[in-house]
Amino acid sequence: NVPERRLSTPVLVIGTGGAGLRASIELAERGVGVLAVGKRPRTDAHTTLAAGGINAALGTMDPEDSWRQHAADTIKESYLLAHPEVVRIVTENAARGIDDLVRYGMPFAREADGRISQRFFGAHTWRRTAFSGDYTGLEIQRTLVHRATELAVPILDTVYITRLLVRDNVVFGAYGFDLNDGTRYVIHADAVILATGGHTRIWRRTSSRRDENTGDTFRLAVLAGARVRDPELVQFHPSGLLEPDDAAGTLVSEAARGEGGHLLNARGERFMRRYDPERMELSTRDRVALAAFTEIREGRGTAKGGVWLDVSHLPRETIMERLPRVHQTLLELQMLDITEKPIEIAPTAHYSMGGVWVRPEDHSTDVEGLYAIGEAASGLHGANRLGGNSLIELLVYGRITGAAAASYSASLSAQQRSSWAVEEARREIDELLTRDGRENVRVLQRGVRDIMTEHAGVVRDETGLLKGLAELDAVEERFADLGIHPDIAGYQDLAHAFDVKGTALAARATLEAALERRETRGCHNRSDYPALDPDLRVNLVWAGPGKIEREELPPVPEEIASLMREVDTSGHKLVE
Ligand code: FAD
Repeated sequence: NVPERRLSTPVLVIGTGGAGLRASIELAERGVGVLAVGKRPRTDAHTTLAAGGINAALGTMDPEDSWRQHAADTIKESYLLAHPEVVRIVTENAARGIDDLVRYGMPFAREADGRISQRFFGAHTWRRTAFSGDYTGLEIQRTLVHRATELAVPILDTVYITRLLVRDNVVFGAYGFDLNDGTRYVIHADAVILATGGHTRIWRRTSSRRDENTGDTFRLAVLAGARVRDPELVQFHPSGLLEPDDAAGTLVSEAARGEGGHLLNARGERFMRRYDPERMELSTRDRVALAAFTEIREGRGTAKGGVWLDVSHLPRETIMERLPRVHQTLLELQMLDITEKPIEIAPTAHYSMGGVWVRPEDHSTDVEGLYAIGEAASGLHGANRLGGNSLIELLVYGRITGAAAASYSASLSAQQRSSWAVEEARREIDELLTRDGRENVRVLQRGVRDIMTEHAGVVRDETGLLKGLAELDAVEERFADLGIHPDIAGYQDLAHAFDVKGTALAARATLEAALERRETRGCHNRSDYPALDPDLRVNLVWAGPGKIEREELPPVPEEIASLMREVDTSGHKLVE
């Protein structure tokens, strides 16, 4: 018999990555009660992995830059699927997001005269990416944790949330359990902010943290009555490691190509010559990922299903000075010395451009009192994310949504709760803990990840997607025979059972939307529909199995559209 703790807070923030922490800080600075929960240590959220930088048109290096140009670049790169109003809000408020970080003590790289340094990122017109070495995400996370600690924000980062509590389409809290001792949590709240990240770990190779990005966001939101926008739009990074298995997808920085690395197929050919002869290895992320995928699929890949990224021809000093992190990572993970041997890589799931459907002005959802921010949300990136835009999104909407949740909470005079909803959440865990079947949660999760890798990777087609859905049905049938065994080491098995439920739901949403998007646009390549279809300049909104609607996007304002026409963003070198 495990104990059940009851907590109550004006605002509950689920997720202690950059987005959740920024929202929590906003609430605490306004004197509003907040509780932040996460399922892994606050110092180790996915956000810490971000390397290259964070965007804002500060104009410190290029005074010609403006938020409008930043907006134009973002919409152009999104293949017109970004929501213009979300883009305006993020780009216009980006400088304030950087100011907030500076106020909290963020150690940005600076020029000799004190200006914040800014560098080029692929497809930006001007230098507008601020950074902190190649540890920008880690420094942001540290800075936000530090500020949250100063403000005494209560953080529980061993609590796995399994359900949002909703009555009559109004959220009133969440239910979960402690990963170490199984203690249950009933958390009552006026408002709930979902900051639970993306769904990239539903693919076999992913740049995300282990046990993060498992589809929890989609499951929590959809079971609560919210919807998901464009789940099929996922950015694949060209260079993820193949091995070791438990670190598959770990990124090899684009700097390795930027510094002069060669991409080779198993025959030793520099295959980018066939795909982008002018820019070769310096081509854009989506093009390089598609090229590597094509080489592998057409039988010119390595025996393990990859291609080679070779920097061994570069002077040893260049590698040690410019690529120290890559050198160290390969030594640690594979005992491979990149000054002597090539790295075996393949495209890897990297970023969820889709996410929970939200209103542009405050990121509220279809469920009253429920908000979504960060990689969990949607609207900014469309069919291709501009590098450096996701970190600034965390800062901008963390602040705006924190403020919105604060006023929503203040406006509530009474709240209807439902003991039935709590009982349902409680029973779901009780029932799982009685399972003594033969199926292992990890094996089933691997099954779903294999399906996604096979049928919904860089290139998709109708036959494969339908096959993926049929195979997903078969894996889900095996859930009936699960065995779940919490032990003295903690409740990881139960956590993985919920991970696999989230993974399956996110996989279904992604497969169904990928089927529905009968065109090739940005990251979404349909070999059976190789052209962009102007009529599909719509968002696909998924409300549950078989329920997809098209949503029209507003036109791009003329002041932004005119800047999109003037710009040629093709020539810039990759930095990240
Ligand atoms: P996350 O940081 O993923 O946090 C999610 C939180 O939710 C975690 O605390 C997690 O524990 C919690 N959570 C999830 N499910 C549950 C649950 N069921 N119960 C309780 N808690 C839960 N972006 C840029 O802009 N610039 C870059 O240079 C850049 N580089 C990157 C490099 C790498 C290798 C990667 C992987 C990403 C990079 N990104 C970059 C993207 C960026 O890091 C992420 O999009 C961003 O950090 C997401 O932050 P978040 O707060 O939304 O979510």
